[in-house]
Amino acid sequence: MALTRLDLRYGASVRGIWTNVLGRVNRSFTGLGSWRDADVRAFQRQALPIILAGERQIASLTASYTEQLYRDANGWGPRVSLDMDSVTGTALRGVDPVEVYERPFKELRAALSNGASLDDAVTRGAHRLETLAKTDLQLARTHTVREVAADMPRFEYTVRELQGEYDCALCMIASTQRYHKRELAPIHPGCDCLVKTVTADYDPGQVIDEERLERIHELVEEALGRHDRGGRTVDYRKIIVANDHGEIGPVLGFAGQRFTGPDDINLPT
Ligand SMILES: [Zn+2]
Repeated sequence: MALTRLDLRYGASVRGIWTNVLGRVNRSFTGLGSWRDADVRAFQRQALPIILAGERQIASLTASYTEQLYRDANGWGPRVSLDMDSVTGTALRGVDPVEVYERPFKELRAALSNGASLDDAVTRGAHRLETLAKTDLQLARTHTVREVAADMPRFEYTVRELQGEYDCALCMIASTQRYHKRELAPIHPGCDCLVKTVTADYDPGQVIDEERLERIHELVEEALGRHDRGGRTVDYRKIIVANDHGEIGPVLGFAGQRFTGPDDINLPT
């Protein structure tokens, strides 16, 4: 489905928040100069309020966006009251952000002890930080959609609209599916998809253009070490599954791959 002006406006506002939050926490981390225990606390004093404020901004933008979608579909809509604490911060992972945002330091130290240079180690820690923060910003969105849609009887499902650089086969495939609104929309770390509530009669269909189809084949091949072209039609819907991740809830994955916790090597959360 084509993005509407409302989608585009909301998407642009969310992207602005991502850019701002990710830029500021990155500078806060890379600018530390040393990354010892005392630095963890200094970093968190700066970064955690920035991340939390970003989550709250995403949550309120998402609530207004979903309310507007409902008014457009229904002619009128309830004004939803949103409990911010239930869609931001610790509520997102069931883990204290203080614990979550120690992981970039652990990543950095692990890299150093594996012989990486300090520069490389900082880069890896910063990358981990970015993935964590992106995932939390996206979780603020999916939690808000679930919360707000609960009060909107005509909406049954959520679908996703691709936003980013179209580099994720999982999201391309997932964009052909709908998920019940009671379920948290499945994501993957770093996912920035727009999550949209729809009525029961909406079916996203299985239409994927040639270029994206080609990219999906490449990515499936990369992920699974094999491909499935040879003239046969691939049923995309069977390629992906939503595994339940111990910390971030339903996570998109390729069928046959399993992960259960934040320490799984291929899935930095
Ligand atoms: Zn996505």
